[in-house]
Amino acid sequence: MRRDTSPTSNVFADFTKIRNAKNGKRRKILRKLESRVFERYSLFWLNLPTPERVPAKHWSDVCHEALLHCYTSCTAPSTAALNELERATRPDPYRCPYCLMRQPKTWDHFLAKEDFPEYSTLAPNLVRACDPCNRKKQRNFTNAPRRVVNPYFDPIPDQPLLWCDASVDAQGQLSLLYYIFRDPNVPPPVLDLFERHFEGFELLADMTIEGATIVDTFIQEIVLLRNTPFPAEELDYEISRKLNGLVNYPTNSWEVATFEGLRECASFLNYVNARVAPRADRPPRINRAALKAALRKPLGDEPV
Ligand SMILES: [Zn+2]
Repeated sequence: MRRDTSPTSNVFADFTKIRNAKNGKRRKILRKLESRVFERYSLFWLNLPTPERVPAKHWSDVCHEALLHCYTSCTAPSTAALNELERATRPDPYRCPYCLMRQPKTWDHFLAKEDFPEYSTLAPNLVRACDPCNRKKQRNFTNAPRRVVNPYFDPIPDQPLLWCDASVDAQGQLSLLYYIFRDPNVPPPVLDLFERHFEGFELLADMTIEGATIVDTFIQEIVLLRNTPFPAEELDYEISRKLNGLVNYPTNSWEVATFEGLRECASFLNYVNARVAPRADRPPRINRAALKAALRKPLGDEPV
């Protein structure tokens, strides 16, 4: 759930280069199809910011195969177009726009290439996504009501919508619950879409697991050299310091939501302090004077 730079490449020229790189029968088919493909490109643009409103077109099996082949069988122009798209839209930090958790290593077709083969190489239909999100995103994710946020064209509100409720139960277990906050200043259809996206990609389970890991790492870091409990303001400072380090992360990044949630959790202080080793549990400090005295003792004095 992040707004990315929309691709600005010349998609018409890209298609012509890609079809020219094909051989034999496919090349002829694609040359004949070019004007119809360009009409479909224009239709995609006319329907922005909601490309999913473009109705699917029926292509004969031969045409369908040739169009899909433009993506599935790499040529120098198609590889160059994908590399350029990745370079132009690469965010920092480099994360999948659907989950904001993992590195994107695959291309997702926002409108499924099986249903829209003419858009299989169209830059604004290609989203650099992580493998788990790409696998979870089914062909019907763009059917109404849509279950995926479009990172290029959807209005992503400035205010944080991904929230995390952190709490510690009676057994001393920390739990993190992520959800979409129904901000009254955000139009309900946008919130509904975010909620469907969150559920569709099963982000609650993934964030809960990853959240537990980063909280654990955070605590280990801050208690490492400590042997007295944190005062509340000092723990708050450590959390603020962590959040300052995430200042370039997207507003709805799960790490930001996690640490904001910890800051609001009153029992987190006790949870952390329970992990600060008390003096008695620490290894006894070395008594240097006694050690020196023992080393100075002549060996012959040892009892037999
Ligand atoms: Zn992802």
